[in-house]
Amino acid sequence: MPVGLIYDEIYLKHEVGVHVETPKRLIVAKKFLEEKGIWNSKEFPVIKPRKATIDQIKYVHSERLIEQIKELSDLAAKTESLKNIDMDTVVSGDTFESSLYSVGGNLTGIDKILKGEISSAFGLVRPPGHHSNKYKCAGFCIFNNIAIAAEYLFREKNVKKVAIFDWDCHHGNGTQDIFYDGSENGQLLFFSSHQDGRTLYPGTGFTNEIGSGKGEGHIINFPMAPSSGDDIIQLLYKEIAIPITNEFKPEFILISAGFDTHHTDLLTRMGWTIQGPANLTKLIKSLADDYANGKILITLEGGYELDKQAQAIYNVLKVLNSETDLISEDERKSDEKILEYTQERLIKQIKNNLSEYWNCF
Ligand SMILES: [Zn+2]
Repeated sequence: MPVGLIYDEIYLKHEVGVHVETPKRLIVAKKFLEEKGIWNSKEFPVIKPRKATIDQIKYVHSERLIEQIKELSDLAAKTESLKNIDMDTVVSGDTFESSLYSVGGNLTGIDKILKGEISSAFGLVRPPGHHSNKYKCAGFCIFNNIAIAAEYLFREKNVKKVAIFDWDCHHGNGTQDIFYDGSENGQLLFFSSHQDGRTLYPGTGFTNEIGSGKGEGHIINFPMAPSSGDDIIQLLYKEIAIPITNEFKPEFILISAGFDTHHTDLLTRMGWTIQGPANLTKLIKSLADDYANGKILITLEGGYELDKQAQAIYNVLKVLNSETDLISEDERKSDEKILEYTQERLIKQIKNNLSEYWNCF
């Protein structure tokens, strides 16, 4: 079955001025996939997004926030200028519309996966979403694409168990906030791996943030030491994410994919290679094959070294299509101290905090 590529030029119309989260991120990725001959091919057909409804946006956002974004976007259009939500987060005249399509693209991908037209899908969408919560848009994000996708599965598709893997270099704090107490409509498991919040925006995502109420034990954070390489995330998944997911048995898997963990990314200080995200996808795909009939929807979050991001996206797509010929750069082993910190402190701490919720520990 093919792997869907969700894309439309509407995603370029969310303009941000001089900013790292630029429309070029998608243009460069698309061009690279075209050069590689896989863009809109039999294996990777392009899927046109639809617009999400306001009711769907309300699954996770307050009415007031939705109105605020609409008003700001209308004002930007009227004054032909850009408006700021905060220091980092910009709204242009087409932002509201682009955001509805960004959410809607992910929902379209889910529909096609559930209909059996495609095995999985990759949303090359903008604006991103994982820093936005119920009341606030932040960190370059407008509506929380992945959280709405999860609620859509629960409320409209009768799916009962969804796992979200967020491997963006920044903590998925918006998604965590939205699901901190779980969801009223289904069971949600959320993993966020990110550069330690003491060293990077948004400064959250520590091991003691594990959810509460219905969500208790279902929020799992991997705050990685700066400069951690591919070996560290592999270790965290093998020791923690895989055993928990085996126990949880998700019916559908969602991924918030950020490509800002690359060792050259200027916003962050991590040590991943261009094949790092793809190797992680292999682990997640194997879980999806075991429990979810292979159903995976990936949505784009961050990633600011445009060439590296394009290559990493290509690699992830190859893995989704069960191909093995990845573009690779030299392996980068993490420093002994980081390895020791991860094994002796981080993993032990996480297992300790979660042991009462999961039999695997
Ligand atoms: Zn990020």
